[in-house]
Amino acid sequence: MHELSLATDIVQAACVRLAAQGGHEKDLLASLPGRSGGMVAKRLVVRVGELSGVNAESLSFCLQAACGGTPLEAAEIDVTTVRPALLCPACGEVACAGRFDTVCPRCGRTISGVAGGRELDVELECDGPDVEGAEGDREDKCLEG
Ligand SMILES: [Zn+2]
Repeated sequence: MHELSLATDIVQAACVRLAAQGGHEKDLLASLPGRSGGMVAKRLVVRVGELSGVNAESLSFCLQAACGGTPLEAAEIDVTTVRPALLCPACGEVACAGRFDTVCPRCGRTISGVAGGRELDVELECDGPDVEGAEGDREDKCLEG
């Protein structure tokens, strides 16, 4: 897995999402600095499954680099690793697995086949003057009416 190209993809997608929240979803240049509609990215959370083949540490490093010069530049980057989850077919117990198989903690049966751990979830927390401003305008109109 190439963490750098993955990081670039994540940052690009996050920039588009950020621009969309700032009301600039049609602006294809929105991912350039200063074109994010006033929205500021506060935190970029990435959850990588242990079995996804992605090195979380390496991805975190690449994300820092990929965020440079984008609206995500100042965002806090948080990469966490998700343990694979296994569902025991015999008793329904959900267990956190080692690498590829594990023994069910309830019935002792060997479980193989991973139910989770390959995910790659990206979450973006952002803040922007546009959102607060819009709410403020609405409040003013209500007071006048
Ligand atoms: Zn079991």
